[in-house]
Amino acid sequence: MPGGVTLVERRRGFGPFERLYVPTLVRALCIPLRHLLSNLVAGMRGRALSSFTQPLAEEPALLPVGCLGMPVLVAGDDGAPLCVACGLCAIACPSRCIDVLASDARGRTAASPERFRIDMARCLFCGLCEEACPEEAIVLSPVMARAHADRGALVHEIEHLLVPADLLEPSLQRVRELTRAIRPDPPQLRVVAGEGGV
Ligand code: SF4
Ligand code: SF4
Repeated sequence: MPGGVTLVERRRGFGPFERLYVPTLVRALCIPLRHLLSNLVAGMRGRALSSFTQPLAEEPALLPVGCLGMPVLVAGDDGAPLCVACGLCAIACPSRCIDVLASDARGRTAASPERFRIDMARCLFCGLCEEACPEEAIVLSPVMARAHADRGALVHEIEHLLVPADLLEPSLQRVRELTRAIRPDPPQLRVVAGEGGV
């Protein structure tokens, strides 16, 4: 659900009723109580719950489209990354959490990364990597799941980072709008080079 803006008009000072504090506290507690009761009734009648909470450990939190979550690599139709291992995202990254190594098995620059990892524990979700990328190969997804008991598990390797392009369309649209001034023509999906190289 896209986020909206609600303007809240703030009053100066409090009335005598609010100064008593306890009635206001009771009123505030009525809100979760109302949700609790309506969910209990809905659950007993087999209806959908009206809860806004998410079971975070079991399900990743999905943020609205405008929010910047964890960066991921865009996979093309063949499942391969669109990344050409140019390293611009790693240079732009202010926290130096991107580690990219170009495949040079044939002793020359290849069009794919041999290693691409992001240390999510250090990522600031600033979006500079997606702005720097000339291939729309890295975008900030609407997924945020950074809590883990093992810090090493937050280092995401290329196999954890790859997400099909069609699942990332809202994020890609956001990047296109952001970079329209400097990149009027978005990059087209590349034909992945075969054994003959590029
Ligand atoms: S979002 Fe920012 S901190 Fe995170 S990988 Fe991209 S450039 Fe680095
Ligand atoms: S994700 Fe983009 S900027 Fe980063 S190395 Fe790949 S092509 Fe270059």
